[in-house]
Amino acid sequence: MNAPLPAEMLKQHLIDPEICIRCNTCEETCPVDAITHDGRNYVVDPAICNRCMACVPPCPTGSIDNWRLMLREQAYSLEDQFGWDELPLEKPSPAADMPAAAEPREPQGAAASETQAPVFAAPGSVVPPWSAAHPYVNLYAPKAPVTATVVGNFRVTDTEMGSDVHHIVLDFGKQFFPVLEGQSLGILPPGTDAQGRAHFARQYSIASPRDGERPGYNNLSLTVKRVTEDYEGKPFNGVCSNYLCDLAKGDTVQVIGPFGSSFLMPNHARANLLMICTGTGSAPMRAMTEHCRRRIGQDENGKLMLFFGARTERELPYFGPLMKLPKDFIDINLALSREPDQPKRYVQDAIVERAADVAALLADEDTYIYVCGLKGMEAGVLQALSEVAGPQWDALHAKLREQGRLHLETY
Ligand code: NAP
Repeated sequence: MNAPLPAEMLKQHLIDPEICIRCNTCEETCPVDAITHDGRNYVVDPAICNRCMACVPPCPTGSIDNWRLMLREQAYSLEDQFGWDELPLEKPSPAADMPAAAEPREPQGAAASETQAPVFAAPGSVVPPWSAAHPYVNLYAPKAPVTATVVGNFRVTDTEMGSDVHHIVLDFGKQFFPVLEGQSLGILPPGTDAQGRAHFARQYSIASPRDGERPGYNNLSLTVKRVTEDYEGKPFNGVCSNYLCDLAKGDTVQVIGPFGSSFLMPNHARANLLMICTGTGSAPMRAMTEHCRRRIGQDENGKLMLFFGARTERELPYFGPLMKLPKDFIDINLALSREPDQPKRYVQDAIVERAADVAALLADEDTYIYVCGLKGMEAGVLQALSEVAGPQWDALHAKLREQGRLHLETY
């Protein structure tokens, strides 16, 4: 089945635009930069992709795992792929005796045999901690979403400050929507884009633990920042964040997912959690912290250490409840970047300041690290961890990655 293809044949790698939630994971993971995107679709360049499979395990939806056997000269171009709202139907196989199209597990074909597939080394783990509970994923797809009802929507940052972050509670009634801390879901905003196409789903991390925002209820929470400007600071209204932040109690929303099978917490007693986040990247940290808080007194929690970056104290989501957590339960370190009369501080600065305690956690085989938030923090946090760990960082980094102990989710 895995015999090399003739040079004129191609097993083309495609992304299903109907299922893709545009989370950017594939583009970030691709070691040869074959994946790119426009305002709508993520696409794979057939001239670059070598079918190394690096992008497949991290994809939360499975939309990445589509392959078409075809003549190389008939490969779908990037322009073709940018125009799709759904994958085109499979064409009849160009040669009846060619290998079946459903087994792209090994690099194949002329491109792959000419150049060896690169060794894949994403900075974070693509496997969960060994003891993580089993996650349910992809129970609801865009064509058959589940309807949830808004039972709470309130602001968790100071009303006088620029960052408008909402805590939104969704109830699923009697419908099955099981989640674990660290998983995410997709929201389908109503309406259409400028081309008249239905909006695609937006992904949000779940901010509540597995037993719900309110234990005993079939509900969960999200942390959503109202987007009012783009990355360059120009006015831009985020389609889904504004829709969600404006929802009222009793409104309904269309939900897909759940997603994610590696950014999960260990499920065995006394594992340590080192959590590093910025802004709304705090959502999964809130879920994990709350899971642990609910079992205080049961001798199950290890050490919890949190590094949380925000512009100011008043723009830090959940500041009040966070500060009320017992000091012997969680070691909280804030890094504020725009607090008047204070030097600018990022989470990576705080990590280095607490080097001795972070080093002790890194030296413990039972420590699991989670990083979530702005894309820009990733390099800085890894650099800070390497400074703290010293010369052994490269070996430790590889071990953490392999053992599902270093999880990065940055956007
Ligand atoms: P933000 O308020 O813009 O920034 C939070 C803090 O991070 C600020 O103090 C900011 O400092 C600082 N920062 C900026 N660049 C940094 C860098 N290179 N290294 C370390 N810190 C840096 O954050 P936000 O708007 O809430 O955005 C959080 C991110 O998390 C978004 O990209 C979002 O997509 C992502 N996310 C959200 C969820 C969710 O469920 N809501 C889940 C996962 C990820 P300055 O701006 O003052 O420089």
